[in-house]
Amino acid sequence: MRIAFRLLTILVPLGAYLALGWVAGLVIFAVWFLLHLRDYLRLKRALAPTLPCPRGHAVAQFGTHRCSVCGAVSEGWLWQCACGAFAAHTRCGECGLTVWNPLVR
Ligand SMILES: [Zn+2]
Ligand SMILES: [Zn+2]
Repeated sequence: MRIAFRLLTILVPLGAYLALGWVAGLVIFAVWFLLHLRDYLRLKRALAPTLPCPRGHAVAQFGTHRCSVCGAVSEGWLWQCACGAFAAHTRCGECGLTVWNPLVR
């Protein structure tokens, strides 16, 4: 009787894991997949040639930009300077509204 009880304490959790373990795996995979899909979509927007401001004007993400931290004027990606500074936002050249870095927001 005592050995049968010990076997049950091992076999029941093992059976439950084998029968329902895929549910936890599916949830973990779904969370992983959605987080990576979000990162992919943010990166896709951040690497596009232009980004729309709230009024729809096209803000160039590549070209000549002035760094607000070191003041250097350099050519390249809008969001990162050669000094290492990472910009969270910029302003639209036409209407002046803030355009957020897609990797931040
Ligand atoms: Zn800089
Ligand atoms: Zn604008």
